[in-house]
Amino acid sequence: MNSVNLSRLLFPIFLLLLIASIGYILITSKNEALIDERYLEISKNMKTHLESLIKEKQDAILQMSLAMSQDQKIKNALLSKDSLNINLKEFSLKLKNNTNLKNIWFQIVDAEGKSFYRSFSNKTGDSLVKARSDIDKMIKDPQIITSISAGKFAISFKTMVPIYENDIFIGMFETLGMFDSIIQKMQENNEHTIMLIDKSYKDQLVYVDKTKFIQNYFIVNDKADEKLLDYIKAYSIEAVINCEDNSTVCLSPHSVVSVYKLNDEHGKPMAYFIMSYNLDEINLNDIFQVRNILFLVFGGLLFVGYILFLYFQSKKNLIKNLNFKLEDLVKSKTKELTYLAHHDALTGLTNRFLFLEIVKNTIESAKRHNSKFSILFLDLDRFKDINDTYGHYMGDLLLKSVAKRLKSCVRAEDIVCRLAGDEFAILLKNVDDDGLLAIVEKIIHSIGQSIELQNNVFNITISIGISCFPRDGSDVDILMSNADTAMYKAKEIGRDTYQFYDKKMSESALNRVILEKNLKIALQENQFEAFYQPQIDTTTGEIIGAEALIRWNSPKLGFVSPADFIPVAEQTKLIIKIDLWMMRETMNQLMNFQKCGIDIKKLSLNVSAKQLESKEMIADLKNILKETGFDASRLDLEITEREMMKNPEATIVIINEIKKLGISISIDDFGTGHSSLAYIKRLPIDKLKIDKSFVDELPHDKEDVAIVRSVISIAKNLQIDIIAEGVETHEQRDFLLLEGCPKIQGYFYSKPLNANDYKEFLLKHNI
Ligand code: C2E
Ligand code: CA
Ligand code: CA
Repeated sequence: MNSVNLSRLLFPIFLLLLIASIGYILITSKNEALIDERYLEISKNMKTHLESLIKEKQDAILQMSLAMSQDQKIKNALLSKDSLNINLKEFSLKLKNNTNLKNIWFQIVDAEGKSFYRSFSNKTGDSLVKARSDIDKMIKDPQIITSISAGKFAISFKTMVPIYENDIFIGMFETLGMFDSIIQKMQENNEHTIMLIDKSYKDQLVYVDKTKFIQNYFIVNDKADEKLLDYIKAYSIEAVINCEDNSTVCLSPHSVVSVYKLNDEHGKPMAYFIMSYNLDEINLNDIFQVRNILFLVFGGLLFVGYILFLYFQSKKNLIKNLNFKLEDLVKSKTKELTYLAHHDALTGLTNRFLFLEIVKNTIESAKRHNSKFSILFLDLDRFKDINDTYGHYMGDLLLKSVAKRLKSCVRAEDIVCRLAGDEFAILLKNVDDDGLLAIVEKIIHSIGQSIELQNNVFNITISIGISCFPRDGSDVDILMSNADTAMYKAKEIGRDTYQFYDKKMSESALNRVILEKNLKIALQENQFEAFYQPQIDTTTGEIIGAEALIRWNSPKLGFVSPADFIPVAEQTKLIIKIDLWMMRETMNQLMNFQKCGIDIKKLSLNVSAKQLESKEMIADLKNILKETGFDASRLDLEITEREMMKNPEATIVIINEIKKLGISISIDDFGTGHSSLAYIKRLPIDKLKIDKSFVDELPHDKEDVAIVRSVISIAKNLQIDIIAEGVETHEQRDFLLLEGCPKIQGYFYSKPLNANDYKEFLLKHNI
């Protein structure tokens, strides 16, 4: 697992812990605040309780003093100055036993300020005026005085009420109360209270138990809560009495501590009530219940959040996975598409597009490194015939095996490309001339081996043109076009071979382009003319007919020989239109002759293989015959042996169609096309034309003599008519006549003639 995955896994856990801890802190701090509030409330309650107890006691004492001040018995005693009958000790005891008012003491003071009666002592008659300012104050201005004050024993509540008899001030009644009962009441309420007298009273407290001082503060309590006492002792008393203010609570280890300060009449601290409430006694269940509910809700939310997180995470992962899959698909499809864009679907070879790119790059690097390379332009010979005869499926299979063979002839670093159809190209880097030729010859040899496909044996050949960088061009288009030109040259010189590009070749290619352009114009502008070369039967001297031959006198190029422009026209299919023009033109002219009463004999027309392949051939022929009114039986079509043998089966079919129209057929240039006798037998032909090349050297060349003799005998055996062309001399004519070929065409009798001259010729010989 890598660090990225680890951090992806740890991050949510970390986040979860973080949220949980923040939640925990928030809830517990809120909880603590609630508890503090509760403590503060308890602290305040203790104070108000104490306050109310103090007030209650003060009131009770006052009530008592007021009641006693009205007592007639006391008044009488004062008036008679005899205190013997007064016994308030018992009253005090009764109060202690029967009421909440414990430790209540009484004193009666006379109008002069002398102690008249004390319930807590037998001592009487001592003057208190000097010792006590409040008594002095009362004598001077009798009124109700209540106070809490510190004496020599402790701190006590005091109430003084004036006693009157007939509106004359006769004395005062004083009630003293201790704090014990209050402390006890607090105690009963679980509010443990320790009452301390401020250290400033230490010297004043002469009649107290000295052991009850802590840090100079006097403890009033009889019994004090030990835990609280320990707490006070452990800390300085100042710290304890100042440990709280209005908003904070003071806590001992066991209790809530609250301090009530009691000041003297001058506002100075006099006593302290340190109250404590045991923590164990405080019921915090409701707060904890709230806390638990909060924890539960928060935990639940966290859990739901976590489940949602997991859910979305898994969704995210799902989407992520889908994304990955989609990305993979896009990648593989893109790869596929790029492959398809750069390769030929049938053979799997590099296609033209990629090949040109590679050649471009190769040119760049060859320029940098001063190196050479070569491009081969390859074209299968007569592949079209195979395609037409055996169908495209077989053609495709053949192309595949050719591709395989080409690959096997080159090195791994060489690029083999299918340009289109049966055209291929090969880029050869880092080879010298010998190496290059070795590869080229290997290719020609390899393709020349028969290919067996689905019980058919194919013998095909290939023509190769070669251009070399930098000699033949430094640009991809030029190099490709020059290799193409060289390939055409290889085709021209007989196919199944290779040619290097040279400049002359490109000139002839240029000528081809110019010719083609001008041929189109010639057709449009009617620049052609039909010539007729008569054919003579030497035995009678009679004209048997004429071969129509096209002539082109171009305003731009001058006279162009059909031997030059017919091959170009054949390559571009212009030949079909040209041949149709010739048919229409010659038939029209001869019909005109006929109308003049001239016996026009037979008309031989040259038709190219392209014309035969044309689907409209038969229909066109019919149309022209109908249009001109020319008699089909006077028409003869010359087809060269070479063209016929390109696809003999197809030729047989079309010739039969033509013959059905009543037209006769001649094999032109016979002897040059290597036809087999078997085929000639099957071809429905009427006439053989012995080629001029065999006539030229007659009767001296033995080979030609032998060939001509055998051709004549074949014709005789097959009962086919025969004629010799290119006869120029007596000797030639005599030899042919002697051998049994009296029909002759050639300069001996006449050169090709224009229409008028031919008309004259016919007229002359008709007579
Ligand atoms: P080809 O069909 O073999 O025509 C005979 C050629 O031999 C003609 O050349 C003709 O002028 C020439 N010739 C005839 N007798 C003699 C002779 O005694 N001595 C010499 N030196 N030459 C002789 P041409 O007219 O130059 O035609 C050349 C080729 O062009 C023809 O060969 C034919 O294949 C083709 N051609 C001519 N006209 C047409 C046409 O209208 N259509 C088609 N498709 N091809 C044509
Ligand atoms: Ca001919
Ligand atoms: Ca010929």
